[in-house]
Amino acid sequence: MLQKTSHFLREANLIDGAWVQADSGATIDVTNPATGLKIGTVPKSGAAETARAIAAADAAFKTWKKTSALERSKLLRKLHDAIMDNQDALAELLTLEQGKSLFESKGEVGMSAAYILWFAEEGRRTYGDTVPSPWADRRILVTKEPVGVIAAITPWNFPSSMLARKIGPALAAGCTAVVKPASQTPYSGLAWGVLCEEVGIPKGVVNIVTGAASQIGDEICANPLVRKITFTGSTEVGKVLIQKAASTVKKVSMELGGNAPFIVFDDADIDRAVEGAMLAKYRNSGQTCVCTNRFFVQAGVYDAFVEKLAAASDKLKVGPGTEDGVQQGPLIDENAVEKVEELIADATERGGKVVAGGKRHALGGSFFQPTVISGAKPSMRFMKEEIFGPVAPVFSFDTEDEAVALANDTEFGLACYFYTGNLGRAFRVMEGLKYGMVGVNEGLITTVEAPFGGVKESGLGKEGGHQGIEDYLDTKYVCIGGL
Ligand code: ADP
Repeated sequence: MLQKTSHFLREANLIDGAWVQADSGATIDVTNPATGLKIGTVPKSGAAETARAIAAADAAFKTWKKTSALERSKLLRKLHDAIMDNQDALAELLTLEQGKSLFESKGEVGMSAAYILWFAEEGRRTYGDTVPSPWADRRILVTKEPVGVIAAITPWNFPSSMLARKIGPALAAGCTAVVKPASQTPYSGLAWGVLCEEVGIPKGVVNIVTGAASQIGDEICANPLVRKITFTGSTEVGKVLIQKAASTVKKVSMELGGNAPFIVFDDADIDRAVEGAMLAKYRNSGQTCVCTNRFFVQAGVYDAFVEKLAAASDKLKVGPGTEDGVQQGPLIDENAVEKVEELIADATERGGKVVAGGKRHALGGSFFQPTVISGAKPSMRFMKEEIFGPVAPVFSFDTEDEAVALANDTEFGLACYFYTGNLGRAFRVMEGLKYGMVGVNEGLITTVEAPFGGVKESGLGKEGGHQGIEDYLDTKYVCIGGL
């Protein structure tokens, strides 16, 4: 397996076009979550390397911003093609370090390519305005300009596509980038460097630094050359970055935690709801920020839904992501497994009943059984906490108002889902849910054409859609007088 992926497996930072180690020579080990074996190392960099990456991005910005939108679009199209030409190798690398099934990894890599293509197109449409002037002798122009150097910090659950959503619009808009991938899954991030080099994106336009998160993050926040931070990760770290970025008044976009509700009404098509539930719960073994955290099912269909969901969960094939037909890979690490165990223990102590799974998988390591818990109650921890694992707690409710109130009873507001056959209810509930994204009779809704993002403590800004490039642009007003 390593043979195919080895071309993309870089154990170095990319700074100003050179693959380099940390100044201290220190490294971080990267392990395969399916086997616990070491894959390799990456540099343990800190503030100094980050400052150099930022300086390189700033130097590159001076010329990159002057390239035409068409020229940048052509390079991004090449980048799209290079990703698709190497989809298998990139997917294997992703599965190796992240654990998800090869099927899901290929899907993620395909999604990365789709984001790049989308922004190659959107970059040509960053229109400004000419505004009717109140003065006879003056004209008003509004133009859009790239913000400058951006810094992107990404998590381990989608190590390829989370970068695509940031590198794509940044480069299309004319910005240059400093990227810090998650230490658990740095190779899919570093592979972007290889791809960018190979398609001829000039040196310094994309720089990638791995290492000590808080040191790299602090330099990014404090350095005045960085004009925007785009972050995907936990709400906890997001808040720290927002606070620190205030010192140099940077733009921030934040894709933070979620606590997705999935509501099933009596009038829903239950089989379709179960199908959607399986996608919304178990994708990436429950480790996505839009994964269902809480199922709310109306009393009349509660037992039928729980039975069907438990049966479908029991059928999921758990195993190493590289194995044929595997649907559930391992969790990212031992901490993730412990968190899931704690939440299940908390639920059973408070009267919840495990109706599927509930334990570590016989495969050992960080493999966990797909789990369904009936009799979930608002006093249980997963009412408020993100599970980030393959556990489906199912709550019962009686009325529409109660369901909406329960669903909204969280500081998060990323994705939510509900199933109903009633059109009026569909509109009422859709409007009542305080979330950035709503799936109505759909459990999988992410696509490059639509704006992804949350409200409340789930974040700021949108990725994807025509909105996804806005945060990479400054609006400039020009008044032309003396006509
Ligand atoms: P997760 O729980 O998904 O790992 P984190 O928010 O901890 O979410 O991590 C997301 C990304 O943020 C990772 O790349 C991680 O290394 C980085 N990170 C963690 N702490 C900090 C910090 N203090 N400053 C900057 N980046 C950080």
